[in-house]
Order: sequence, then structure tokens, then C-alpha cells
Amino acid sequence: KITLFWFRRDLRLEDNTGLFYALQQEKTVLPLFIFDRNILDRLEDKADARVEFIHSQLLEIKTKLEQKGCSLLIKYGKPEDIYLALLQEFDIQSVYTNRDYEPYAKERDAKVESLLKEKGVTFLSFKDQVIFEPGEILNGSGAFYKVFTPFSRNWQEKYKSTKVQTLDAPNWKNLYSIAPLDMISLAEMGFEKTGISIPPKVTDEDLISHYDKTRNFPAQNGTTRLGVHLRFGTISVRKLAQVAARLNETYLNELIWREFYMMILAYNPQVTEQAFKPSYDLIPWRNNEMEFQAWCEGKTGFPIVDAGMRELNTTGYMHNRVRMVVASFLTKHLLIDWRWGEAYFAKKLLDFDLSANNGGWQWAAGTGTDAQPYFRVFNPDSQTEKFDKDLKYIKKWIPEIGTDKYPKPIVDHKFARVRAIDTYKQALNP
Ligand code: FAD
Repeated sequence: KITLFWFRRDLRLEDNTGLFYALQQEKTVLPLFIFDRNILDRLEDKADARVEFIHSQLLEIKTKLEQKGCSLLIKYGKPEDIYLALLQEFDIQSVYTNRDYEPYAKERDAKVESLLKEKGVTFLSFKDQVIFEPGEILNGSGAFYKVFTPFSRNWQEKYKSTKVQTLDAPNWKNLYSIAPLDMISLAEMGFEKTGISIPPKVTDEDLISHYDKTRNFPAQNGTTRLGVHLRFGTISVRKLAQVAARLNETYLNELIWREFYMMILAYNPQVTEQAFKPSYDLIPWRNNEMEFQAWCEGKTGFPIVDAGMRELNTTGYMHNRVRMVVASFLTKHLLIDWRWGEAYFAKKLLDFDLSANNGGWQWAAGTGTDAQPYFRVFNPDSQTEKFDKDLKYIKKWIPEIGTDKYPKPIVDHKFARVRAIDTYKQALNP
């Protein structure tokens, strides 16, 4: 009999909770990854750096497992079908995995679990991608927090009083001995290489220790760029939180934002389609397609907005400060539905995460959990003045700035600001 350990967004061998416990308790553990067609078939662009990244990480894991006399079983298809086939192929006793809190993942896991149970196979899941999972940080009346600050306070208190352990030395001798297995190629799944590079997986303690001072300046190398690694679990959030707690409170707070939005999504799965504050779905978005296109291409004539969009289109990354500016610009200046921007980011961001992206967009549009009044509209010029004074970031992404090749602003700032406020006001207090 074998035990399967099912990798999903936890693509690492070290400090991996589910894998650790599988190896602790069971003999003959065979690790598995499924390229899920329910997810992959929805990706329109077949040159996707995230799929390429997953593929490369799996190859690395597989090689390491082969050095230990095991291998990595890699399948391509719909998880339920794959499990039905695996039940024929192997004598499976149990399946271990780490929990994922996204709506699709929860539904998938529930189906797989019941399918396995019917065949007498145990399905065990563990907390791994967060320090505290949805439901662990609740307010005094046992409800979820609707605003960040008290959530963060409660989180930090709990963190101080909990000994969060890292699980380093797994019992590798309990791996299943098997000859190296084949690995499906990107091309066989219809995907291509992209040439986009992934930020390295380094925990730069120097950078983290002055993170609070550097994080807002897009021209500086002042944030960790670990988003993609947190997304796919190529680093352990427990280890990162330990460093943060030791070196920089502001950085720890960002990791808490990540868990806050995961919690919001878990308790409010409707936010992927609706405003967190339902009345905000009454806003009559203008949704001008040409303006949206100009925004996507970085041709709005607002340099800080265009620089951000060009950075995103070229690298799959955009600095957080600029994400806030471009999102505010799209929703407030252009009155384009935040869901359009959210979907565009979802296609392009290497670190795309459903909960953080949705949270970020709803924050910018004023429709989300934030208490900020809707009439605060970011002024792109003053954002530039504050955060890119020497235009270093802007010039990097817009070499033609200052020449007649650079487009004229597609809208007047003052006019757009008043229009946004009036539109919101009328929709919310008719
Ligand atoms: P750092 O500044 O080094 O922060 C470290 C980590 O903390 C990040 O990697 C991330 O995991 C977490 N984090 C930081 N800020 C936030 C935040 N506001 N919300 C949630 N987690 C945070 N983040 C995503 O991970 N995926 C997204 O799809 C995403 N979409 C966004 C969309 C909008 C409109 C906005 C305003 C923000 C979005 N963010 C998203 C949050 C934030 O911009 C990124 O996490 C950050 O820029 C990633 O860069 P970094 O790894 O250098 O972050």
C-alpha cells in the first residue's frame, strides 16, 4: 500500500507540513502533482510564465526526490478523473495534502475527498500556506473581521503567544522506492516558454530590515518580490514570518494583509463577482473599451500609470504603490469596472493571487473592506511627486517621455475627479 502526498501551492520539500506528516506517519509515500485542466484550460495565453515556473519547480523537486530513491508522479487532467485512474494503478491507503482556501480549491478537495472515502482511502489536509487560516482569527463575538487593523492586532497577539514551528528534518526513509518517472513537457500541455524571468527566491534580511523606509519607492529595489514564491509555496511563510517578526514590523504586517484577504475571500466567496459592500454594485461604470485598451497598453498619457502598466506587461510584476495608482486611475478617473482591471491583472501578474488581487482592486475602487471614504481619489501627479520625484521609475518604462511620441492625457484630472465623486455619490445616495 502507498500514501500519496499531493502537492498544490506548496512546491517545496523543506518545511512542508503535509509532506512532513505524511513521512512521519506513513511508509511508502509517493509525492504527486496534477496539472489541473480545470485551471489550465481557462488560461487564454499559452505562453504563461506561471505555468512555466510550476513546471521548472516540479523538475527541481523531482530531481531531488530521485536522489533519495523516489520520484514525483506528475499527471495532467481533471483531479477527479486522475484519482479514479490512480485508484486503479496503485493500492492507495491515504492521501495527504495542504489546505487551499480558494473557492475552486475547496470545491475540488471536497469532491476528491468524498470520492476517496467511498473507496476507503483516507484524505488528510494540513495548514501550510498561512500562519493563521480563515477562522483562527475572529473578533470577540466569533465573527470574521471586516477591517484590517483589529485583525492585524489580534493576529500579532496570537503569533506572539503561539510557538509556530518549522518542520525541517522529514523522515525521508519513508519515501516510496521507485525508478524515475516521466514528466510531461510544457508543449505536450499546449504551453510555451515565455522568456520572462522569475525573481529569485532569496530572503534578503538587509532589505527586510529597512523595508518600511524603502517599500513605497518604485525606482528602488525596496520590496522583496517574494509574491510569486508565496503564491506557489516555493518558500515557507513560517520561515519568512520569523524573519519579519525579528527584523521589521511593517513587513510582517504585509504578510498579515495576505492572510486578511485570504480570510475575507474564504468567508465571502461572492466578492469575486460582487462588491464587498453590496451597495457599490449600483455604480454605473462607464466601461469605455478604448480607454480600457489605452490603460492596458500604458498609453493613457499619465506617466506613472503608463509606467506601471508597461512594467506589468513586460515583466509580470508591478510595484505595490503603482498597483494602487493604476487601479485607482482605472476605477475613478476612467470609471471602468474594477472587475475589468482585476481580470487584466489576473492574466498578467506572476504573483497573481485571487484573494490579494480582489482585495487590492476592491480597496482601490472603494468597494471593499477599507473604511476609506470613496471621495478620496489618487492624484497621479502628486503620487509621482511623493514616490518618484526624480522620475527614475517613469523614465525607465517610458523612454519617449517628453517627446511628441508620448500620448496626451486621455482625460483631465480635475474633471475626472469631480466626475468620479459625483457618480459615486449619486449611486450611493440617490
Ligand atoms: P513585498 O512588499 O515584499 O511584500 C511581501 C509579501 O507580502 C508579498 O509578496 C505578498 O505576499 C504580501 N503582501 C504585500 N502587500 C500585500 C497586500 N496589499 N495584500 C496582500 N498581500 C500583500 N498581491 C499578490 O500577492 N497577488 C496579487 O494578485 C495582488 N494584486 C494586487 C492588486 C492591486 C490592485 C493591489 C493594489 C495590490 C495587489 N497585491 C497583490 C498586493 C501587493 O501589491 C503585492 O503583494 C506586492 O506588490 C508584491 O510584491 P513583493 O513580493 O515585492 O511584496
